[in-house]
Amino acid sequence: MLEILLPFALLLAALGLFVLFWGRRKRGETGLPGGEVIYSDTRDWEKPEKPLFSRRYGLVGRPDYLVRTVEDGVSVAIPVEVKSRKRPTEPYPSHILQLITYCLLVEDNFGARPPYGLLRYADATLRIDYTDELRRQVLDIAEAIRIARQAKDVARRHEEPNRCRACGYRHACGDESLV
Ligand code: SF4
Repeated sequence: MLEILLPFALLLAALGLFVLFWGRRKRGETGLPGGEVIYSDTRDWEKPEKPLFSRRYGLVGRPDYLVRTVEDGVSVAIPVEVKSRKRPTEPYPSHILQLITYCLLVEDNFGARPPYGLLRYADATLRIDYTDELRRQVLDIAEAIRIARQAKDVARRHEEPNRCRACGYRHACGDESLV
């Protein structure tokens, strides 16, 4: 089982890195949502016992919590991603796309599409709607990562030396690194 899960775990980790590096730039192009602040009672939040796995989409991940709720008479699980920091002015694209990845995993595992996910910061909880557009973005990124993993070389997609300075892969990056 481990040999099956490991590539998907790596894929999700790569997905996280990808959205971290390119998310800021994509925000302007895609209009990622700012999120709606909601009241949230944490008493009914459950920690998932094990990671959620989707063979169909080649993804695996474990939301911090799942909230059970009823939408239009159907029981659905709402994924929650917890961040220890205070709420940023706008949620980072990487946080949004990580949460939407969990929405996709919930949809595939439980057979009911969650209408939204929750981003819980230290001082506020934001509702992020699980839209078709965000769903498509996650699937596009996952596909791009699959393709990139087969490629011999992957070109740099930014002009920001500070990113390279802070990058954990700089030692292996060769001529693409800006520093
Ligand atoms: S060092 Fe290479 S992998 Fe890291 S941010 Fe720069 S270009 Fe990207």
